[in-house]
Amino acid sequence: MQPRDPGGPLGRILSDIRREFPTFEIRRKRDSALQRALAVALAAVTLGGQRSYLTHYHTVLFGKLYVPDAWDRMDELARYVLLRHERVHLRQRARMGDLAMGLVYLLPILPVLLAWGRARLEWEAYLETIRATAEVYGLDAARALEDEIVRRYVGPDYGWMWPFPAVIRRWFREAVADLEAGASARH
Ligand SMILES: [Zn+2]
Repeated sequence: MQPRDPGGPLGRILSDIRREFPTFEIRRKRDSALQRALAVALAAVTLGGQRSYLTHYHTVLFGKLYVPDAWDRMDELARYVLLRHERVHLRQRARMGDLAMGLVYLLPILPVLLAWGRARLEWEAYLETIRATAEVYGLDAARALEDEIVRRYVGPDYGWMWPFPAVIRRWFREAVADLEAGASARH
């Protein structure tokens, strides 16, 4: 995928990621037999709760980013924000290795300790989503992410990863407060 402006945010993050992870590639989920099989498995274990895996979910696996159908409709800034999130997962993989990451991350649902591990790994990446959104769209846009992020944690998208909305809302507000403190320190 070639960005229109290689010097813009999308072009920069793509070249940064390729420098840090030389084997990084963006692939379509629909073209991958494994991703199509995962979609079927996820729909089954979530009793149909996760049916958007191929259409709406971006997934890093073995150092590649698998993009859903929705990727084609995202503009360059939205892709930039997404890549900021996914770069966190690439770094987690480098830190933990495929096996540990797979255990903590891919095993959907249960037991609670694994879901907690996944919830924290995912939170590290969502922090980056929040920061990148504030950077390109402003603080109000970052604040507006709260309900969507809470929904993802407490619902079937990631297998009811951490179904305690008050906890996620507290994490979210701490993240926004940090951004606000950073913004006012710069003024
Ligand atoms: Zn993620």
